[in-house]
Amino acid sequence: MSKFSIDQSSSSPLKIGITGGIGSGKTTVCKIFSTLGIPVYNADDRAKYLMTNNLEIIDKLKQLFGEAAYLPDGNLNRQHIAQIAFNDPTILQQLNAIVHPAVYEDGLAWQAAQKNVPYTLKEAALLFESGSYLALDKIITVFAPKEIRLQRVVARDKTDPAEVIARMNKQMEDTKKIQLADFVIFNDGKHALIPQVHRLHHRLLRLLG
Ligand code: ATP
Repeated sequence: MSKFSIDQSSSSPLKIGITGGIGSGKTTVCKIFSTLGIPVYNADDRAKYLMTNNLEIIDKLKQLFGEAAYLPDGNLNRQHIAQIAFNDPTILQQLNAIVHPAVYEDGLAWQAAQKNVPYTLKEAALLFESGSYLALDKIITVFAPKEIRLQRVVARDKTDPAEVIARMNKQMEDTKKIQLADFVIFNDGKHALIPQVHRLHHRLLRLLG
């Protein structure tokens, strides 16, 4: 089946991915979809959960980053991991090779448990970069200009703007994400968000017939 045709004989809900650069508004958009009864899988949140709860992953991360990968309370030592991984592409690749397949499997199990809904949403910042978009039926990109994203993330996380810019620069360009998407939601402060989500929701329902 092509990526663009919908198998109406199947009772399993359509799988929609939602992505966008850091601070573009993915979670905000997903909250609006949730109010319409659409279940949302947040891949970044689940990755964090699995990294502190899945024993196999914990073991592998300790092998890669040492015992210092975890804080004494069992939480992930993000600073330690980020400092090493973001300065060494090979380690980053190894980290991704541990976490991405586990999140993918977890997402499949979550998807299989969703019943009686027209479609599900999978939210991930690196949907294209990780290749997980290939297993989805349709993709939504949330777009906001870099300056607005920077302002919003700095206000949300009380973080250093330079750190946010460094993270932005490691992500795929927005123009590419828009090209690869089936639908775009503009969260640039000029287009109202709720009506765009409602319109898209109805488009998706029409697709399902
Ligand atoms: P991340 O990539 O870091 O997970 P995200 O793409 O999920 O971020 P959100 O967390 O939804 O983005 O939004 C970033 C911040 O901007 C949040 O504090 C959110 O409340 C705020 N925000 C999002 N959309 C708007 C908007 N249209 N107007 C004002 N604030 C907004």
